[in-house]
Amino acid sequence: MSATETAIASAEAHSAHNYHPLPVVVASAEGAWMTDVEGRHYLDLLAGYSALNFGHGNRRLLDAARAQLERVTLTSRAFHHDRFADFCTELAELCGMEMVLPMNTGAEAVETAVKTARKWGYRVKGVPDGMAKIIVASDNFHGRTTTVISFSTDPEARADYGPYTPGFEIVPYGDLTAMREAMTENTVAVLIEPIQGEAGVLVPPAGYLAGVRELTRERNVLFVADEIQSGLGRTGRTFALEHEGVVPDMYVLGKALGGGVVPVSAVVSSAEILGVFRPGEHGSTFGGNPLACAVALEVIAMLRTGEYQERAAELGDHLHRELGLLAGGGAVETVRGRGLWAGVDIAPALGTGRQISERLMAERVLVKDTHGSTIRIAPPLVISKEDLDWGLDRLRTVLSA
Ligand SMILES: *Cc1c(COP(=O)(O)O)cnc(C)c1O
Repeated sequence: MSATETAIASAEAHSAHNYHPLPVVVASAEGAWMTDVEGRHYLDLLAGYSALNFGHGNRRLLDAARAQLERVTLTSRAFHHDRFADFCTELAELCGMEMVLPMNTGAEAVETAVKTARKWGYRVKGVPDGMAKIIVASDNFHGRTTTVISFSTDPEARADYGPYTPGFEIVPYGDLTAMREAMTENTVAVLIEPIQGEAGVLVPPAGYLAGVRELTRERNVLFVADEIQSGLGRTGRTFALEHEGVVPDMYVLGKALGGGVVPVSAVVSSAEILGVFRPGEHGSTFGGNPLACAVALEVIAMLRTGEYQERAAELGDHLHRELGLLAGGGAVETVRGRGLWAGVDIAPALGTGRQISERLMAERVLVKDTHGSTIRIAPPLVISKEDLDWGLDRLRTVLSA
């Protein structure tokens, strides 16, 4: 057996089969490239679902992590530490907000947003106890915890995990009228992704997000934006909502915030909203730890320069121009997305998204399929134009075979 086959067989024997990875075993990575256990190089066009916006082994991030590793890595929130205040201040400022509640994974941050919105509903809005409702969108992806999958519309994510957490109302994504009709005086929040990543990089109709902003403001409902995947540079702006000139009441952040080094997530909002928490009412042992703060501070400093957003916008224009040309040729049905982020619907006759991903892997390009015949392209924002073009060439080869 090859080193690859041995590693995969062993993983299959000893790990739960809750994933179906492509048959590549990565041993090292740098920038937009990964190297497998047999020394083959692959172009990474997934970037850890945007967790790797700044690329693999980013020097600045590794240096920040290494320096912090030598000082102090964990205190728990039982004590203050000297990176915490800077992290919260800088992140709030990047978001144009006032307060930060740090967690670790995206799903935990979404849970935190749900708890914040409910508490705000009872304490500030005056919703009767136990009656708070949160409106979410169909085809959403907000994580994998029991509460979060309770409002998923994906049967695979939900089946056999009931009983489900009540208090959520699902309306079609992009449909403002349905949202308005679902709203009652007990609605405390609308929770949506400004662009739905897992659903296939779905961009809502123009004006939808601004409409949600107007409606939520009118009805004293919190607009909670899950920018875990869409935020921090991916779309060519710091936040995807900026494309519509929209500022939410709460950002939910994760993935790229940890620079691909450590899991870092956060809820960022106003002092009025995050001010609802008192000591002991919510927390996390690892949330806001010194190592996480040090890496995230470097991520924030990098985003402050604007260069990554600009790069994503420029290379993104190029990516969408090239994919647009493919869309005329019969092999590709539709292309969606914004910035360095695209969902590509392949003509089903050419194979499933999984099969296309496997053929791309044979061409040394790594992508991830989603739902049926869609593949998703989201390279690290540090990818060179030459490498991106090389990857697009491989895609053309696979689609014309
Ligand atoms: C990845 C993701 C999450 C969940 O993050 P985890 O770190 O995997 O828990 C939530 N929302 C969106 C939009 C995501 O892309």
